[in-house]
Amino acid sequence: MVAELQGIGMTSRRTRMRLIQRLRESGIQDERVLTALAEIPRHIFLDEALSHRAYEDTALPIGYQQTLSQPYIVARMTEVLMEHNPSRVLELGTGSGYQTAVLAQLVDEVFSVERINPLLNKARERMRTLHLRNTSLRLAGDVMGWPENAPFDGILVTAAPASMPEDLLPQLAEGGVMVAPIGETTQVLTKVIRRGDDYEITELEPVRFVPLLSGVVR
Ligand code: SAH
Repeated sequence: MVAELQGIGMTSRRTRMRLIQRLRESGIQDERVLTALAEIPRHIFLDEALSHRAYEDTALPIGYQQTLSQPYIVARMTEVLMEHNPSRVLELGTGSGYQTAVLAQLVDEVFSVERINPLLNKARERMRTLHLRNTSLRLAGDVMGWPENAPFDGILVTAAPASMPEDLLPQLAEGGVMVAPIGETTQVLTKVIRRGDDYEITELEPVRFVPLLSGVVR
């Protein structure tokens, strides 16, 4: 569990609990997920100028034209993933590290890959601040994902590939689940379950994400 941080007073906790109530009203039911979101302070994942908006249910900019996803989306994707109780999870698109931290509360090990080095460094620092020791973060390599640490029984993609991210499929363990927003201008939150060499695909709901890109930014 995350140690209470200096400077996070009761006001922030109360505001956070209001957000949790709102997520519940929006249909998030998994109490484990709601608890994880209640425990992770979202304001430390934002620049100071925006931190006062941290507990609104909206996506917020984190620089480099990237965004910290809306809490509802973080909760929803985590909930879909957690239906399958994964223990080793790969996240694609560390961004601020908020989703990484939420996952770290729920599973044994989180591996997260980011293509923008300055964002990655900030996220690493936040993992240290929160004393989250079950996360490993790295800069994107030649192959999408983190094949050296595969297989994963959960994969969460937090940037949108234009089509099914084929490179990630072999990194999924038997019975493992991948949750990803797929599409170009409009995207659909998609769940993929591996069954041997077959993949069971379920389309869930329309979403909006920044695009999944190749190459790294140093
Ligand atoms: N999960 C993040 C959301 C960040 S937005 C959070 O909680 O803050 C999506 C992130 O995916 C961006 O930071 C973007 O740089 C990153 N990204 C895009 N394409 C990627 C790729 N091929 N590999 C790794 N990260 C990628």
